[in-house]
Amino acid sequence: MNFNEIIGQRDVVEGLKTLINSDKVGHAYIFYGPEGIGKSTVAKIFASILMCDDNTGDKSCGNCQSCRLFENGTNPDFGILECKGLSIGVEEIRNLQHDICVRPLYSKRKVYLIRDAEKMTVQAQNCLLKTLEEPPEYAVIILAASNYEVLLETIRSRSVRVDFKKNTFDEVKRFIVKRVGEDFEQADFIASYADGVIGRALRLMDSEGFKELRDKAIDAVIKLSGSDFEDIPNISVMFDENKEDADSMLDIMLLFYRDLLIARKSGNEKLLINSDKKDIILKNTSRFSTGKLLHNIDIIEETRRNIKQNANYQLAIQVMLMKLQEENA
Ligand SMILES: [Zn+2]
Repeated sequence: MNFNEIIGQRDVVEGLKTLINSDKVGHAYIFYGPEGIGKSTVAKIFASILMCDDNTGDKSCGNCQSCRLFENGTNPDFGILECKGLSIGVEEIRNLQHDICVRPLYSKRKVYLIRDAEKMTVQAQNCLLKTLEEPPEYAVIILAASNYEVLLETIRSRSVRVDFKKNTFDEVKRFIVKRVGEDFEQADFIASYADGVIGRALRLMDSEGFKELRDKAIDAVIKLSGSDFEDIPNISVMFDENKEDADSMLDIMLLFYRDLLIARKSGNEKLLINSDKKDIILKNTSRFSTGKLLHNIDIIEETRRNIKQNANYQLAIQVMLMKLQEENA
């Protein structure tokens, strides 16, 4: 496995390479960054290199016994602890501690990745602390967390923090194109929508449901540009049926209004996020004034805030739809 497989995250990768090359690998790391940013992917590559007999600092050899077992997913010197229920409890950490005391069988080191580390209970963290205070010399523990603050200060102070940053639009697009090819017409949209998080782009690419949801939400925006109030109950039902994805639907509508605004102001098709829908956008720009579009964007943001603050969902959506349409009337 090779650090070159990672798109973006140059600071992270360079930092880890330096540690390996200068032989300053510590016992505990906190990989911190949003969900889907690539913490586990980087952790696995880092682990494979640390465990390999013949690594070159930026990649593992792929041939030694440790590497072969690792690539099959059967290397007993590497363990992943994941949150299966609501939290990671003290029992699971105790199991890890029993296991860590056994010397590595096939590798130079023994590496553990604890995903969703912020879900460890306080007792679990305190339990883990004992290992961090006196780790076996061959052990490395990587905590992957999207929330740093909930980790105990005592855990934080014994770990090296590695910050994962959001990728740029171009990096996410490069990832998409590498995966599905140049002529994927939704690449620009997904890259924008992923907001710098490759895991999010991956989810969207693989989701049939998302394509459908997007078409419905865009259709709603167009319908709401008319003055036919009869559309509102249907759109409202769609929101009810997709309550779990309400945030995504609001995002889609928001980005569509944003594109209408860009098309209206600049006429530059290249700046459109929904570039695969440019025909629909250009056909509909004249139905909205700049003021109306800006106002609609505000209305959506306001609705999102209200829903987050536990407003009645159905009511909040209906009021939003009426306002969006009223502004257009
Ligand atoms: Zn190897």
